[in-house]
Amino acid sequence: MDSKTTLLRVDKVSRDYGTGERRFTAVKDINLTLQAGEFVALLGPSGCGKSTLLRMITGLIAPSQGTVFYRDKPVIGVNPHTTMVFQSFALYPWLSVLGNVALALQARGIPTDESQQRAIKLIDLVGMDGFENAYPRELSGGMRQKVGFARALAVEPEMLCLDEPFSALDVLSAEALRGELLELWTNQRLPIQAILMVSHNIEEAISMADRIVVMDKEPGRIVTEFPVNLPRPRSRTQPGFEALMDRIYAAIAGRTEPEALEVGTAPGAPGQTRLLPPSSVNALAGMLEHLNEAEGKHDIYQLDHDLEIDMEDLVHTIEMAEILGFATVAAGDIQITPLGEAFAEASILARKDIFANRARRLPMITWLLDMLRSVPEGNLPRKVFDTALQVEFPEDIADRQLDTAIDWGRYAELLVYDDRSERLSLDIPDEVETPSAA
Ligand code: ADP
Ligand code: MG
Repeated sequence: MDSKTTLLRVDKVSRDYGTGERRFTAVKDINLTLQAGEFVALLGPSGCGKSTLLRMITGLIAPSQGTVFYRDKPVIGVNPHTTMVFQSFALYPWLSVLGNVALALQARGIPTDESQQRAIKLIDLVGMDGFENAYPRELSGGMRQKVGFARALAVEPEMLCLDEPFSALDVLSAEALRGELLELWTNQRLPIQAILMVSHNIEEAISMADRIVVMDKEPGRIVTEFPVNLPRPRSRTQPGFEALMDRIYAAIAGRTEPEALEVGTAPGAPGQTRLLPPSSVNALAGMLEHLNEAEGKHDIYQLDHDLEIDMEDLVHTIEMAEILGFATVAAGDIQITPLGEAFAEASILARKDIFANRARRLPMITWLLDMLRSVPEGNLPRKVFDTALQVEFPEDIADRQLDTAIDWGRYAELLVYDDRSERLSLDIPDEVETPSAA
């Protein structure tokens, strides 16, 4: 790949929508460059103009001000060197998988025979070998998205623009498709020279990109960027990954987070595992939303009145916020942390992510996950954990600990608990180690 070639240069680009009084600026003064060989992720809250920016880069819409340059030439009309992959693809229902991909090639003037041959190769590349003759209605969402990828790749774009390409997929399909894309990219089996991917998932962005550009809204703009210097293949468990996640969360919350919050306040020494307070994510979310509404510190004694919960539940919820690093408590006052604010303001999915990132560091949860990882099947009967905990705690406390850990772990999608068989298992694929490139 010829690096150091600037493919894309977005120069002081703004875009307005609407007319008259309803006119507003969706993105403002965007500067962004992409070199050949780069994989850049664009992160930011919903409505900050990520899709708008991508549409201008691919030439689907024009900037109101500024210029998009591609290989030093202003982009006017559709940019022929880029292709966009959307959240969900409209495949032609009356065409087979092969037909859908071949059509994109035929549209480029490639003869039918050759189109078929190349389409078969592309279908194979995205891992859909054997489904050439299937129709879209017979495919899962993940498979359809793969066909969409194959179709986008068929035009051999120099730069691939991806607009939340995995967000409409279930967890497993998304993970599989990310893997396929990364493999295609890192093995350079495609003529693609750069990728610009919009994401709302920080972990996804870190695991894939070389550089993460963070946007914010009102007006939509770039606020900061982070290089990702972690070796590939990446996994959440590698050194530096979670620290980078934290920095990005904090940047999205608009502030930087002090390092002292890093591991909450939970001591990790064996034999003095801090008990998880028996509180729920719902109670936590309610309290953080309340704290987030008003600036500054709150008197704890005021809170139980405001939240209409009793003092004992409140104490548990506060402790939950504290050990997760979402709030600090001092001298009867509680104060929400930047991370707590990020959680309070986040979407449901992002909340899970923030929560999971913290919960997995709690000694109790780490222990549960390590136990599950230590068996090949990744699942164990609840009784195993009960027995182990009863060495340290009275039976009822052990039982309640486990209930709480399961509740939090389920919410965080770290583990699965089957009430009927009373077995715990790892929530794959998050917990599966990426195989090393041996
Ligand atoms: P994102 O992809 O980051 O969620 P978008 O680029 O879709 O953001 O939207 C940015 C802002 O512009 C939002 O406020 C959205 O409602 C508005 N917007 C997007 N497309 C249009 C349009 N075609 N007409 C008017 N407003 C739009
Ligand atoms: Mg969008």
